[in-house]
Amino acid sequence: MEKVDVVIIGAGASGLMCAATAAYRGRKVVVLDHANKAGKKILMSGGGRCNFTNMDAAPKHFLSDNPHFCISALRRYSPQDFVDLVDRHGLDYVEKTPGQLFCEHSAKDLLEILLTELEWSGARLQLNSKIHAIDYQAEQTVINTNQGDFCCDSLVVATGGLSIPTMGASGFGYEIAKQVGHDILPTRASLVPITVQPDRKAQLAELSGIACDIVASANGTSFQEPMLFTHRGVSGPSILQITNFWQPGEELTINLAPELTLESLQAIRQNTPKKSFEGVLSNQLPKRLVELIKGQFPWLNERSAQTSNEQIESLHAYLSRFDIAPNGTEGYRTAEVTLGGVNTNEVSSKTFESSKQKGLYFIGEVLDVTGWLGGYNFQWAWASGFCAGQHV
Ligand SMILES: Cc1cc2nc3c(=O)[nH]c(=O)nc-3n(C[C@H](O)[C@H](O)[C@H](O)COP(=O)(O)OP(=O)(O)OC[C@H]3O[C@@H](n4cnc5c(N)ncnc54)[C@H](O)[C@@H]3O)c2cc1C
Repeated sequence: MEKVDVVIIGAGASGLMCAATAAYRGRKVVVLDHANKAGKKILMSGGGRCNFTNMDAAPKHFLSDNPHFCISALRRYSPQDFVDLVDRHGLDYVEKTPGQLFCEHSAKDLLEILLTELEWSGARLQLNSKIHAIDYQAEQTVINTNQGDFCCDSLVVATGGLSIPTMGASGFGYEIAKQVGHDILPTRASLVPITVQPDRKAQLAELSGIACDIVASANGTSFQEPMLFTHRGVSGPSILQITNFWQPGEELTINLAPELTLESLQAIRQNTPKKSFEGVLSNQLPKRLVELIKGQFPWLNERSAQTSNEQIESLHAYLSRFDIAPNGTEGYRTAEVTLGGVNTNEVSSKTFESSKQKGLYFIGEVLDVTGWLGGYNFQWAWASGFCAGQHV
């Protein structure tokens, strides 16, 4: 049996950050992962260029049953701290939309930095490690693996959420938490494309590949960002964002043309009576979508002067409450994150230590903390990993 100070389960974003931070403090650290490669999600994130932080990250961008939990860590390890780290390694990055930082070339460059930090710090990485058993003893914890046994003072669970099982995601972290009496808040796939009901699918599939700027609203929260029609339903930033707030069975509102209010449509008829509403829509929406709308409103190509108030009202209602007939989501197969997880009311927001088991820590996505789309989830992984790494 090998004696180390810290064992970290999970060589993803939070685990790698925690490992280097603890090892730089002189702690003897080993990171175990059942996958054959570290940081697989980092590599596939942000379309292969990893949106590694958001300069505006603030507690309001995170969902949790305990919304105060994330405040301390986000304050102690800021997006600028992570930018300083990647700057020291000379990473080339770009700001795509305000605040959202992506690798300029490839997510590989970012993973390389984390692995370099791991090496410099002296932490050890052991891949292909299957954990068979965890035994909490009075003064230490014993971890039994297919590649030998470890005993440690601190065991950190950094196993992430359930999304993309083919990349190594597992519910193991929740099992570890449950075994010591933690409450797991209901989990569900989020930041995920929405599927539509079978009869609507065929119609919307004709629009597959087109994108437009919409407002998606659910449960009092709205996002104005692009939506993309797919073969299975809808995706794109506005849709992914709203899945943090919407779940199947609840109301979801899609406003296809947020700028076209009822008043503005009436003003168009008043001020440009010779112009058709087809022309107006064509300036705002992709051609194929206008064709679909025309199927519902055959009068669309007439002069606006000829349209009645009722026609304008029904057009406005159609556009502002565009019915995608949501059915569900694509689930963990394509979701970026898992909502819910280890109840943060039972974990220290300063040290990330469990209140149920001394020497046991939870960091990253396994906790009930979920960020919006836009680099927030990685910022949570870095911040929670860093803060725990300073304590273990
Ligand atoms: C397709 C995709 C794109 C994304 N893009 C972005 C983005 O651009 N920006 C952003 O902020 N977030 C993004 N995310 C979310 C982000 O990747 C996660 O929030 C983040 O990786 C969570 O970090 P983590 O350390 O908690 O878990 P992970 O990075 O998921 O790491 C968990 C690790 O634990 C290991 N593990 C799991 N179970 C076991 C077990 N039983 N035994 C041993 N090891 C185990 C896994 O193999 C994995 O290496 C994306 C996610 C996906 C799926």
